[in-house]
Amino acid sequence: MELGEPDESGRRRPIPIKGSEFVLDVDVVIMAIGTGSNPLLLSTVPDMELTKKGYIVANEETGETTKKGVFAGGDIVTGAATVILAMGAGKKAARAINDYLMNGESGN
Ligand SMILES: Cc1cc2nc3c(=O)[nH]c(=O)nc-3n(C[C@H](O)[C@H](O)[C@H](O)COP(=O)(O)OP(=O)(O)OC[C@H]3O[C@@H](n4cnc5c(N)ncnc54)[C@H](O)[C@@H]3O)c2cc1C
Repeated sequence: MELGEPDESGRRRPIPIKGSEFVLDVDVVIMAIGTGSNPLLLSTVPDMELTKKGYIVANEETGETTKKGVFAGGDIVTGAATVILAMGAGKKAARAINDYLMNGESGN
């Protein structure tokens, strides 16, 4: 593959290089690409609200989900993002979880 010319959005997209394909002799292929949410969430936790893309809907300040006592943050809420955002969400959720355990509510 090589990057093509920028399109109208300015983004360069990969285009195949003719004749560059080759065959590998392997026993097993484990696909590990993509950053989507695990579809198990949809089927196993039906009472928790998810976005259309299957990410968890959570309060930005507390990480509270629509399922009582369950908090979420990081990529499963924002979609693929960064470590620093996931860490921030974790800190906020930890505070809210502490409030929830002490008072039965997260303070929001
Ligand atoms: C290839 C790649 C490169 C990246 N490079 C950067 C970078 O340079 N800088 C940067 O800031 N970010 C980078 N990111 C993004 C960053 O890795 C994520 O934003 C961050 O890891 C999100 O943290 P998280 O805790 O939300 O999720 P994760 O780090 O994905 O943690 C989720 C954890 O939950 C576990 N888990 C999943 N399902 C279950 C289950 N059912 N039961 C128990 N455990 C479960 C998983 O094994 C995993 O350990 C990169 C991501 C990828 C894929």
